[in-house]
Amino acid sequence: MALHKQVDEDASDAELEINPLYFREESCAIPRYRLPESGVLPRTALQVVRDELILDGNARLNLATFVTTWMEPEAELLMAECSPKNMIDKDEYPQTAELERRCVNILGSLWNAQCAPGKSVGCSTTGSSEACMLGGMALLWRWRARRKAAAKPADRPNMVMGSNVQVCWEKFCRYWDVEPKYVPMVPGRLHLGAAEAAALCDENTIGVVAIMGSTMDGSYEPVAHINAALDGLQESAGIDVPIHVDAASGGFVAPFLQPDIEWDFRVPRVASINSSGHKYGLVYPGVGWVVWRDDEALPEDLIFNVNYLGGQMPTFALNFSRPGAQVAAQYYNFVRLGDSGYRHVQQTCQDIAMHLSSEIAKIGPFELLTDGSDLPVFAFKLRDDVTTYSVFDLSERLRMRGWQVPAYTFPENLTDMAVMRIVVRNGFSMDLANLLLDDVRLHVRTLEHHPQTQPPPEIQAMRQSFKH
Ligand SMILES: *Cc1c(COP(=O)(O)O)cnc(C)c1O
Repeated sequence: MALHKQVDEDASDAELEINPLYFREESCAIPRYRLPESGVLPRTALQVVRDELILDGNARLNLATFVTTWMEPEAELLMAECSPKNMIDKDEYPQTAELERRCVNILGSLWNAQCAPGKSVGCSTTGSSEACMLGGMALLWRWRARRKAAAKPADRPNMVMGSNVQVCWEKFCRYWDVEPKYVPMVPGRLHLGAAEAAALCDENTIGVVAIMGSTMDGSYEPVAHINAALDGLQESAGIDVPIHVDAASGGFVAPFLQPDIEWDFRVPRVASINSSGHKYGLVYPGVGWVVWRDDEALPEDLIFNVNYLGGQMPTFALNFSRPGAQVAAQYYNFVRLGDSGYRHVQQTCQDIAMHLSSEIAKIGPFELLTDGSDLPVFAFKLRDDVTTYSVFDLSERLRMRGWQVPAYTFPENLTDMAVMRIVVRNGFSMDLANLLLDDVRLHVRTLEHHPQTQPPPEIQAMRQSFKH
């Protein structure tokens, strides 16, 4: 007889509650890579899967990710209630579709879209990667149409961006056969420069991608200056190049913390903007958003129209089925926080980021690359004269108590620059920040007094390419 019968049928629930035994079914040896012959009880399955997952890092101590790791219980409840709903079933769940439409319009107005109220053009996605893919496709389709209309060849499209772009843009270029033209980073300019972007553009450029803000160091790229440089290009060479803004993080930060920076639809060449609802939109993964300037910016033949409730629901997405819970949770956040609530959350993150960066700068061996005054994100490195340990050593030591602070090198041209980056998100309190600072100070003292023993040869080989 299987043990679960003994435990769960012979014993009453009350007995199980007081039974201190770790009572996972003894007969249950679960194969890793093939389907087990038969099933187990739900409690056993829960225990098996949970036991595996305790090996994961603690999401709240993960200072590497931009993605939401804390939501309030009411939002979690709403998401659990909505988890059976499929976003694509717009006929069956017209109200979920309506919430999506409201979110698109809220974002449209937040990003100063010029269209009439309620007429914003956009959609939800699984995240910014899909949203970028859609934004890029619209640029590609429009460029092809322009080339066709001018009876010119349309077989060698390219896209201009900084070498600091997120990997989704490399994917876009490879998947759609678009040549990526990267503006390299140089010391002192760690993201896309306006003149450098315009200089790489030609008649085959489908668009320039500008980032708000950079994954590498949290800095904002100068969208308005890029716009001006492209105006200059149009005047001198007659080439008209649109901009897509990848505001994966900044789309939910800049409107609240830096409302005077013009990076959105106030900038004439900005054709489309994406953002991750699951980053500073404060929703658990995965939800992203993309909004176009107007109907014209999104070619008709990319849209599939679904009519429900007598209206037209334009859908444009890579996935068919998608969870509806995240969209409901995004709308929940808009209702729950409002403008002042979002500002308060993002301001708190920024205050903590700037406190952390200024205290880290005071410790001694570090040099800040950014201080958290754009996104609540900052990067720092060791001073060039620190040679007995690296940021990788510090990252490893911080891991001992569960802090996950990534260390990495910059892209080509600056590959010898190794940095650490801290992303401050909702749920990372000033108390936690001060505990982290205590640990950083302690580890720096330890590393200074005990130079690192040589790591194994394969790790040394890996590190050979960078100084720190
Ligand atoms: C995170 C990020 C992406 C990818 O977004 P996902 O929502 O994770 O798919 C793209 N661009 C930038 C600038 C990002 O920070």
